[in-house]
Amino acid sequence: MTIVITIANQKGGVGKTTTAINLAAALAAKKKKTLLVDMDPQGNSTISFLQDESIDKSIYDALTGTTTQLKEVVHKADLDHLWIVPSRISLAKLESKLIGDFDAHFRLRDRLESVRAEYDFIIIDTPPTLGLITVNALVAASHLLIPIQSSYYALEGTDDLLETLDKVKSRPNPDLQVIGVLITLHDKRTTLSRDVAQKIQEAFGDKVFKTVISRSIRLEESPAYKESIFSFAPHSSGAFEYYSLSEEVMARV
Ligand code: ADP
Ligand code: MG
Repeated sequence: MTIVITIANQKGGVGKTTTAINLAAALAAKKKKTLLVDMDPQGNSTISFLQDESIDKSIYDALTGTTTQLKEVVHKADLDHLWIVPSRISLAKLESKLIGDFDAHFRLRDRLESVRAEYDFIIIDTPPTLGLITVNALVAASHLLIPIQSSYYALEGTDDLLETLDKVKSRPNPDLQVIGVLITLHDKRTTLSRDVAQKIQEAFGDKVFKTVISRSIRLEESPAYKESIFSFAPHSSGAFEYYSLSEEVMARV
């Protein structure tokens, strides 16, 4: 059965894209057929794996068009076992384009149906909002992964995310489960970080992944070189941590 993991948190800069890219790359390295779907109009996941010139049609065309099939927007990444569905800034128009369409929340789930069975894992990156794009990603998912930045305001906003999760579970997608909460951008040298990690533990209990992603220069730099952490700095702490996350993910599904 295909596992579809949506990575969401409506706060920006908490490591959603970094997690989407590196979790997808780690699963592919384990020879799991993996599709990374970029649902953020900013397209940061897209440009980590694809050259801009190679992108003709994007997820927006598949979600809104009547003629573009989803498989036409699947690109092979330069990495074995990994494919990408790119996004472009046009995706920002999704909400206004689909307004009034009775199936607006179901578009991604419906369009993925035709390719879903070809993959072991589908990883969906989302924008920093709880609008229609993120709701589509939650409706399409079997699992939700929540990255939380280890900072003073870490838990601010998670209530809204969990409320959206409950709404999606109550009707369109009752089987949606939280696969885990991932502490990101952690600095184990500071007491603040340790206090915050403890607060996150108290709030989410055993949902919190044992793997914690540390703040690291290598992870910060890797997107600029259009690489996952595994090719950019294979022996770095970031590579070790994201590999360990992929093991926990596989054990939890
Ligand atoms: P989001 O998708 O939630 O907005 P990103 O993954 O794009 O977050 O991360 C925000 C910024 O922080 C990016 O510049 C990214 O390179 C950087 N970043 C993410 N994770 C780490 C980390 N563990 N250590 C250092 N920098 C990181
Ligand atoms: Mg992002």
